[in-house]
Amino acid sequence: GNDETVALTPVVSDCIVLVDHILSKKAITVETDLTDLPPVRIDAGEMQQVVINLLVNAVQAMGDEGTLTLTLSPESRDGIRGACLTVRDTGPGVPEDKLTSVFDPFFTTKQAEGTGLGLSISQTLIQRAGGIISARNLPDRGAEFRVWLPLADQGE
Ligand code: ADP
Ligand code: MG
Repeated sequence: GNDETVALTPVVSDCIVLVDHILSKKAITVETDLTDLPPVRIDAGEMQQVVINLLVNAVQAMGDEGTLTLTLSPESRDGIRGACLTVRDTGPGVPEDKLTSVFDPFFTTKQAEGTGLGLSISQTLIQRAGGIISARNLPDRGAEFRVWLPLADQGE
């Protein structure tokens, strides 16, 4: 449950291993810059589900080639110390007028394999853990999804 605290770096690394069989069939490079940070308060399985959703979406957006960039870094919001995971791809990005709709249940632009539930469920899980998930397009190309979570221990 949500009383569990978890270190994010191993969760993110495990997720990359889990999607590696998809990446190895494509010309998709993974770049990571994962800082070891103090734990956050979220169920490890739920966090894994969120990260897998973001990775699968990024891979589906890029098609057969591209670069997937994952970073984990410290970030404070409103004086609360937190951890921020960013997932960037080099796909076409999200149409500007759809940047908020992507978190709506059943919103999908995919013909067959889309349920439109991945980001909706991810947002529910992250908000329940006191965090924030957001989407934006990168100035050059591609989409960036950010997951911010407060650190479990807010002490010095
Ligand atoms: P699904 O993947 O089943 O369509 P999601 O909730 O995971 O459902 O995503 C909803 C929609 O958000 C996708 O159909 C797509 O239009 C858009 N989207 C999500 N991730 C990306 C991305 N990395 N690049 C471009 N569009 C994206
Ligand atoms: Mg999805």
